Amino acid sequence: MGQLAQQMGKIDISDNESLSAHADGITAAEFRTAQQNHLALRSMWVRAETGNSEFCVINGLLCNRAPAHFVMTHEFLLVLPSSYIQEVIKLAHDLGGHFGVRKTCDRLSALYYFPKLRDLVKRYVKCCKQCHTRLKTSLLM
Ligand SMILES: [Zn+2]
Repeated sequence: MGQLAQQMGKIDISDNESLSAHADGITAAEFRTAQQNHLALRSMWVRAETGNSEFCVINGLLCNRAPAHFVMTHEFLLVLPSSYIQEVIKLAHDLGGHFGVRKTCDRLSALYYFPKLRDLVKRYVKCCKQCHTRLKTSLLM
């Protein structure tokens, strides 16, 4: 169980070392508090506590059971509270090498669960200055 606690507590979004290093500062306790304080997650907590098959609580953290048809590295996905979503999308997109919406979504959905993931990623990528600059440069060449 110790290893799982470590794994779930660490906001590690990929094998990329810089990502893990950046996220090390976030503790499981802080993350749990954010999950508990996020109103939109309240119904998920209730579902997890009433034995819903979609949500569960592991080491005090709210998790979503990964869809069976997904090839997952983790069986359970951490439910992200809104205060972490922007940061995590930024990490996945910027440090991930500015991939498009689909790849960024794939990376995120392998570890995290949050409502409207795709819409939020789409919006983020659309507003990414570096992606715009790169696109402009490649169109001119
Ligand atoms: Zn970008």
